[in-house]
Amino acid sequence: MVPVKMNVKAKACALIAFLLLALCPSVVFGWGGRLHMDISRKAAQIVPDEMSAWRGYAHLMANGSYRPDLWKSDDQTEGPRHYVDIESYSEIGATNLPRNYADLAHMTSRRSTPRSGIAPWVILELQERLTTAMATNDWDEAAQVAAAMGHYVADTHQPLHTTENFDGAMADGRGVHLRWEVELPGQHWRASMLAPGKPAYVSDVWPFILNWIQESHARYDAILDADGKARDATGGNTESRAYYAKLWDLSGDIFVEQASLSAQNLASMWYTAWRDAGRPSIPRAPQQISEATIWRRKPAQEVPSAWPFFVAFIVAAIVIVWLSARKKKPE
Ligand SMILES: [Zn+2]
Repeated sequence: MVPVKMNVKAKACALIAFLLLALCPSVVFGWGGRLHMDISRKAAQIVPDEMSAWRGYAHLMANGSYRPDLWKSDDQTEGPRHYVDIESYSEIGATNLPRNYADLAHMTSRRSTPRSGIAPWVILELQERLTTAMATNDWDEAAQVAAAMGHYVADTHQPLHTTENFDGAMADGRGVHLRWEVELPGQHWRASMLAPGKPAYVSDVWPFILNWIQESHARYDAILDADGKARDATGGNTESRAYYAKLWDLSGDIFVEQASLSAQNLASMWYTAWRDAGRPSIPRAPQQISEATIWRRKPAQEVPSAWPFFVAFIVAAIVIVWLSARKKKPE
């Protein structure tokens, strides 16, 4: 029967779509997700020799690297963890941001809200969590936190994640974010282009984070400029291969340098956490880590049930009414 046939067909299509999405994260996230995996895998592979057991975690770091983007769908507070609009803090200066987010309120006349992005504070918090997890030999937590940290570290090396002009709207280049971050590497990027420097111990991670963010921010203009020139050269046809060839020609070096720096700085952060944790011995990596968000929501506060009070109130009211009725009874 026709309706039944259509039903079966629809179910089959849904199943195929589900399998495709489940098996190929890159279908959902394009090469943006693949780039995260490349950076995190490379970072784990280049940690200093004395931490070489961490290299066995490379597959976990790669597989967990794109998950924070998935958490956005059921956590409205996830988005601002992936960027910081440096312009919102121009009064203070990118490298003078306070270590404690709450101190921002006393330092700027502009009302700073999480919507301006909280990536640097998130990375600092995760560094502390990772150090504690390693120091207490909680390696499931360490792997989960380290993988998530890989995502936020990489995002802040993407210059367009450090500016309120993130999608070129103010420079007449709408859509540049997706073009530069997803489409461009889809056509021109290969993991073999990664050329990170040597990771090193960082004595104070806060200025280290702020410095790489400031350097990243300093490059966003050049990307918008390259986009403008590539559009001019191709009659504004931002879907053409010629446009992406020109864009890569003009900004591919920034892309490769920022991705490479990201892998190096991420490796330095992991190495620093491990050293600060007292160089604990690293066990064999588990097969997989939880896909759930690492941001534990506070359990809803237990609200005491109102029922006992309500019942007591009713009983007391009945007793009072009954007693007063008895008193009024004529002798
Ligand atoms: Zn992200």
